[in-house]
Amino acid sequence: MSYKIAPSILAADYANFASELARIDASGAEYVHIDIMDGKFVPNISWGADVVASMRKHSKLVFDCHLMVVDPERYVDAYAQAGADIMTIHVEATKHIHGALQKIKAAGMKAGVVINPGTPVEALIPVLDLVDQVLIMTVNPGFGGQSFMEDQLDKVRWLYKKREEKQLNYRIEIDGGINHE
Ligand code: ZN
Repeated sequence: MSYKIAPSILAADYANFASELARIDASGAEYVHIDIMDGKFVPNISWGADVVASMRKHSKLVFDCHLMVVDPERYVDAYAQAGADIMTIHVEATKHIHGALQKIKAAGMKAGVVINPGTPVEALIPVLDLVDQVLIMTVNPGFGGQSFMEDQLDKVRWLYKKREEKQLNYRIEIDGGINHE
């Protein structure tokens, strides 16, 4: 089994994105995880598509954008234009998850879907054949310093099995409280 690490730009010095992106690149990582928070789906605010567009000018890394944003379908074109490679949206954040994911793919990005720790993994069933990536939150989104919720790994096992069963191709991503162990 192979895995990749997508360092989070949320841990960077926000006044030095260009050099921080270069540091991620120098580490050998292929991805940068970009957390976008709207102050509504989660209490914190981080940044939006304009900042992602600025980062794009300084980096060839795969931009793995995780939107913790209400009604993310509103921003599909903005992130496509900003140069996002993967746009991942929450099942809990839209009434139209299937349509929103279709819109992401139509805009030329890879489509990712994500669930919070309190959401059952079965909520993903209707969109598994549509997505390129499934993200499992192993902390509640929007707060730093939480510890990894080991019980969420049952969802990862379920997704792994489902992928074999249905011969699907989505990548499985885990977000929150990740350390060496
Ligand atoms: Zn994230």
